[in-house]
Amino acid sequence: MFTVADARRCAVDLFMQSAILKTQPRSSLTLDADVLLQHFLNKPRAWLFAHDDADISPIREAFYAAAERRCTGLPIAYITGEKDFWGLPFHVSPDVLIPKPDTELLVERSLTVIREKTAALRQDQTLFILDPCTGSGCVAISILHTLEAEGIRNLCCIAADISPAALAIARLNAERLLSAETQTRLHIIEGDMRALPETIARFQKLLRLGTTPFPKGADRTSSPPLSAENLRFDLIAANPPYVPSALTQELLKDGRNEPALALDGGSDGLDFIRILTNNTRTVLNRNGVLLSEVGEYHAQAARRLFETAGFSDIRIHQDLAGQDRLIEGEHDGRKS
Ligand code: GLN
Repeated sequence: MFTVADARRCAVDLFMQSAILKTQPRSSLTLDADVLLQHFLNKPRAWLFAHDDADISPIREAFYAAAERRCTGLPIAYITGEKDFWGLPFHVSPDVLIPKPDTELLVERSLTVIREKTAALRQDQTLFILDPCTGSGCVAISILHTLEAEGIRNLCCIAADISPAALAIARLNAERLLSAETQTRLHIIEGDMRALPETIARFQKLLRLGTTPFPKGADRTSSPPLSAENLRFDLIAANPPYVPSALTQELLKDGRNEPALALDGGSDGLDFIRILTNNTRTVLNRNGVLLSEVGEYHAQAARRLFETAGFSDIRIHQDLAGQDRLIEGEHDGRKS
């Protein structure tokens, strides 16, 4: 017999022997054990509390193997393959960052911007949104999922990433979490955020080839015709790599296995914020908004980059912990 209580005890004992985990509070180790048990038993945590003596022998080996992987520092989400974000279960693997609660702020603010902008649109007009480093797709998919429930449909969202492995995960999440109809508004494409015009051109090519449905309100007869030159976004919502290189190396020492590609933002962490502020004004519509997640340690420096690039209405938003986490600027339509 192997009970829930046995499993928890054994896992926590094992975790306490791990050099990486033993400094963590016991409550967090117990939580890790419980999340693994929930995963293998497909039961809510409350069930575990009420069934201390339940015999769970059939999952014993799988549970041990998972607990051992956790001892290497591998996050629980990579072991279970799933992470809740914005109330939705996203599939994850070490090819993508694990969605963090902080990033819900980016979704929240994007939704406010989109609601305001769509309220001012005619029925036959489409709002264009770009998520330039989508990873698991959590930002774009959460936005579309929420707007679908609100009946806001005149949108076209491009979610791009440089990593084909990440794109495969984003596509899987879109299929699992969005209705077939909403999926037609989301275009997940390969693209390097350092070369946005090329990414847009690739999207345009897909439209012309007919492999991607044409966004409503941007039909082939519109004048001037939609092209790589005149497709502009109303909102760019980005969670780019922004962790300074040295800190990235430091963080990855704990065995978390997150992709350095998605974290490392160069020596001051601002490489991609610079790219966004310099390169997006040409692809933003008049009054288009650029939102980017940032590190609390360089939010003020990021503000200066937004100012230098000529953005107006620059605002920094705080996350739930009160840290500067999100920067916003508006493109006033002037040529830079
Ligand atoms: N703090 C974020 C994380 O650990 C950083 C993500 C990023 O660089 N975009 O996931």
